[in-house]
Amino acid sequence: MEALIPVINKLQDVFNTVGADIIQLPQIAVVGTQSSGKSSVLESLVGKDLLPRGTGIVTRRPLILQLVHVDPEDRRKTCEENDPNAWKNGRLYKGVDGEEWGKFLHTKHKIYTNFDEIRQEIENETERISGNNKGISDEPIQLKIFSPHVVNLTLVDLPGITKVPVGDQPKDIELQIRELILKYISNPNCIILAVTAANTDMATSEALKVAREVDPDGRRTLAVVTKLDLMDAGTDAMDVLMGRVIPVKLGLIGVVNRSQLDINNKKNVADSIRDEHAFLQKKYPSLAARNGTKYLARTLNRLLMHHIRDCLPELKTRINVLAAQYQSLLSSYGEPVEDMSSTLLQLITKFATEYCNTIEGTAKYIETTELCGGARICYIFHETFGRTLESVDSLGGLTTIDVLTAIRNATGPRPALFVPEVSFELLVKRQVKRLEEPSLRCVELVHEEMQRIIQHCSNYSTQELLRFPKLHDAIVEVVTSLLRKRLPVTNEMVHNLVAIELAYINTKHPDFADACGLMNNNIEEQRRNRMRELPSAVPRDKSVLPTEQPPGEGDGPMVCRGKMAGGAQGEQEGGTGTWRGMLKKGEEGQGEDKMKAQSPQKGHAVNLLDVRVPVARKLSAREQRDCEVIERLIKSYFLIVRKNIQDSVPKAVMQFLVNHVKDSLQSELVGQLYKPALLEDLLTESEDMAQRRNEAADMLKALQKASQVIAEIRETHLW
Ligand code: GDP
Ligand code: MG
Repeated sequence: MEALIPVINKLQDVFNTVGADIIQLPQIAVVGTQSSGKSSVLESLVGKDLLPRGTGIVTRRPLILQLVHVDPEDRRKTCEENDPNAWKNGRLYKGVDGEEWGKFLHTKHKIYTNFDEIRQEIENETERISGNNKGISDEPIQLKIFSPHVVNLTLVDLPGITKVPVGDQPKDIELQIRELILKYISNPNCIILAVTAANTDMATSEALKVAREVDPDGRRTLAVVTKLDLMDAGTDAMDVLMGRVIPVKLGLIGVVNRSQLDINNKKNVADSIRDEHAFLQKKYPSLAARNGTKYLARTLNRLLMHHIRDCLPELKTRINVLAAQYQSLLSSYGEPVEDMSSTLLQLITKFATEYCNTIEGTAKYIETTELCGGARICYIFHETFGRTLESVDSLGGLTTIDVLTAIRNATGPRPALFVPEVSFELLVKRQVKRLEEPSLRCVELVHEEMQRIIQHCSNYSTQELLRFPKLHDAIVEVVTSLLRKRLPVTNEMVHNLVAIELAYINTKHPDFADACGLMNNNIEEQRRNRMRELPSAVPRDKSVLPTEQPPGEGDGPMVCRGKMAGGAQGEQEGGTGTWRGMLKKGEEGQGEDKMKAQSPQKGHAVNLLDVRVPVARKLSAREQRDCEVIERLIKSYFLIVRKNIQDSVPKAVMQFLVNHVKDSLQSELVGQLYKPALLEDLLTESEDMAQRRNEAADMLKALQKASQVIAEIRETHLW
């Protein structure tokens, strides 16, 4: 198996680079009937006397024998890991030849350098679990052999197939052993050595039978014929070895192991192999080259090589993928800084560009998990802010009593004929003022988002920035303070937008006039309906309303200020749909009620009315109508203003915050950071980053070397 060592060693380097266990060599398991020579075959493959062998049932537990290749230099490390004092105490150099040692799983850190001791421990451990009376157990003994002369390979020695229970063996011993064997050999990554003694009938080989069950195509079964030396006089294994009795795809290999006598005489492996060679030359000269333990080892070598070859393309792909990953990782870390000032300028520019791009939606890195940047600002404007404004009720916080009180307060000492305009202005302003708070909140939200974009840019877009934590912090600081500086300006502007609305209640606003017109028509209609019911009320009512105002001037604010608005005027305006017309319409309607309810008490009823506590009482019909009119007007005007605010606040935020920051970001950053005195400090690389870059570079180098190693192996070693 030593031929594999250089290849495996080279590959090991590759494994170490790309992560262990890329190529797992197949396990090799021996199957066969009891005493057919399985343990002997394994042992001669390993080249060490370490397994208990003998007549009768000897192997009574599976033995998982892991061969571990160690570099002489690595040995110290491996040993110390297992037993910190082993090296110091020179324990490694005691025993057989000092450079090979074994360890059992069940004895933990104990190191065996004497292979006789190992064999003894196997026997003890077998007895411990399976008893001393031929019992078997499926619990494996695990043994690792560390040596510079082996490849990393796992061999499995199994109890032999037996038919008749003896000793402590259960009745179904045959079944139990079969199941135990199948458990190991059904692993597709297991090469099966089907061992049959030459002095038994090959055609009825139990070993081949059980192997065929899990490997019907014979792709991983190698037949081994033992005890060629023990054939009856006058018979030979010619036919068997030629594959004439049973063909085995991967081959039939005859071997001669040490006999019981040899074992008793402590014949060593080397002598045994020499004698085997002599025997084959004498008995089967034509087949000698293709039989024997050495040839078996070579064949296994070849099988393992094939396996390695099959794994190489995948390994190569894996290396290439990793190399590409590390390459891009490395380039994301950036080159070491050469020209500081240009690097600084580049980074600043890159950040500023990314920042603007994130707002514009043209960033390289598009976030998919949540809205960010410009899209989020848009969301804030139209969803968050828009929705909030829409939810502001035009009459929110105003009760009918509030309205009534406002009307009466605006009327002053005299009982009013018309609904006073002042009350409308007063109330509508109060409602408009309520738009200011959500507008300022909108500014705040956009400001927060702009702040978040900084993080976004430094996290995703300008990864290089992470190399220079100080520069990163400085940039964040500059942008943050720029944003902070813009906040009061923008707030002021938004505050002004609301103030502007409050400054002048434009009752001539076309939408307002339209809305009034529409409502007037409704009221007019109601009035007419009422008139039809009370035909006499109209003329008297009309006569009550003074007509001092010259026609023409009627729709100006003067009309109302006097509280003596002309009824006729009102009617006319009502027709043209101004809001003032509406106020009067309301008045007119109330006139009827006055006729009905108040006329009899005219003159002295005013006092009584004023004395009453407004909260608890029921409104008179006139009052109710007054309120209704005012409320409708407020609602209509409020909607106009709300629409304005909904439209103008985002514009103001864009102009005074977003666009301003976008436009001045680059120059602000350059102005504050691009200073010769700061260069050195800002461009101090984080230790972490320098180290990561080195690691990535090393890894890349190792991968490139690994790729080269694979190419070499494929060309030279295998074929
Ligand atoms: P296992 O039960 O299949 O593991 O068989 P072992 O390896 O324990 O061998 C059983 C007995 O057969 C031992 O006494 C071996 O010495 C003996 N033996 C194994 N192979 C040969 C062989 O090729 N020639 C001779 N003469 N004896 C062998
Ligand atoms: Mg055995």
